[in-house]
Amino acid sequence: MTAADDATSQPRPVRLREALGGVPAYAPGRPAPEIAGMTTFKVSSNENPYPPLPGVLEIVAAAARTMNRYPDMAVTELTQALADFLGVPHDHITTGTGSSGVLTQLVTATCDAGDEIVYAWRSFELYPIVTALAGAVGVPVPLTADHRHDLDAMADAITDRTRLVIVCSPNNPTGPSVHSDELEAFLAKVPPHVLVVLDEAYLEFVRDPDTPDALDVYRRHSNVAVLRTFSKAYGLAGLRVGYAVAPAEVATALRKTALPFGVSRIAEDAAVASLGLFAELDERVEAIVAERERVAQGLAAQGWRLPDTQANFIYFPLGEHCTELAEACRDAGLVVRQYGDDGVRVTIAEPEANSRLLELAAGLRERLQPDD
Ligand SMILES: *Cc1c(COP(=O)(O)O)cnc(C)c1O
Repeated sequence: MTAADDATSQPRPVRLREALGGVPAYAPGRPAPEIAGMTTFKVSSNENPYPPLPGVLEIVAAAARTMNRYPDMAVTELTQALADFLGVPHDHITTGTGSSGVLTQLVTATCDAGDEIVYAWRSFELYPIVTALAGAVGVPVPLTADHRHDLDAMADAITDRTRLVIVCSPNNPTGPSVHSDELEAFLAKVPPHVLVVLDEAYLEFVRDPDTPDALDVYRRHSNVAVLRTFSKAYGLAGLRVGYAVAPAEVATALRKTALPFGVSRIAEDAAVASLGLFAELDERVEAIVAERERVAQGLAAQGWRLPDTQANFIYFPLGEHCTELAEACRDAGLVVRQYGDDGVRVTIAEPEANSRLLELAAGLRERLQPDD
């Protein structure tokens, strides 16, 4: 007889880790709604609106023929291709299932229960999740009034328990990149046993000349790792592949914490091929950056005061007016990402979607962000 047969006995609940109680659920970008007679756009996940780079689909199709086999556990070809591309030793590179996967590896490699992870807030919503999953303690440090990292406050937030500091540049969801001088001043204050991760998911879109060269920073500091992804500029979000560049002993630890065979043959081949397509990548990134500038300048001309953006999205910090903007966007066929009463993030997407945003924003500016 099973417990279910016996109406009087209550099955005892499965014991789960207490840490899970503190884990916020990841809010995925919603799909675009169907609205009769209207093309709708998902501008909620910072995806690339373009199809894969030329030839990559064919390479993926060919790699798919080997799906009965496990991939190369060491991800040798991609690791070597990245080492050549970046000019770093191959044993300083770890790949993973998107940079989200590598971020989880970073936390697993550095934090025991109760250890602290310092990050800016608001920033990437995965940071508090991976922190809580590890039983670590998140130390969120508020952004400055202009929605940038407050690196002085982040340095002050470091304690004996800090094992990891995450710097997101450009910051998702607000947009600005950190600057070289402030980052150097910050790193000078971080104890050498604390690992600093520079999350550069949007690196390719950056045009702010004060942004540091993260690889140069990593070469000069023994406690800096750089986190990058093929999901955004390269347009391979669905294949799940990202990487970290880290000091050799950190990279070795990261490989130990990787999900075995996490990077598929398909993802590896697509990433290697994409990495070689400099001109084609550049063309698409330039098109997205040009659209970003068109939207940012158009919004500024309408009177909007918004944070600088170096990524493929625009952030509207509208407080109590966030829902109004998100609903107006939805009615216009744009699904955006709303962060409660903090702000609304809109991905730079197809020109038609971007124009629609400009159009609807024009009529809302005075009410949602009155002149003071
Ligand atoms: C999108 C994003 C990532 C990575 O995504 P993956 O698809 O897991 O590589 C990492 N960091 C930030 C800040 C992002 O916005």
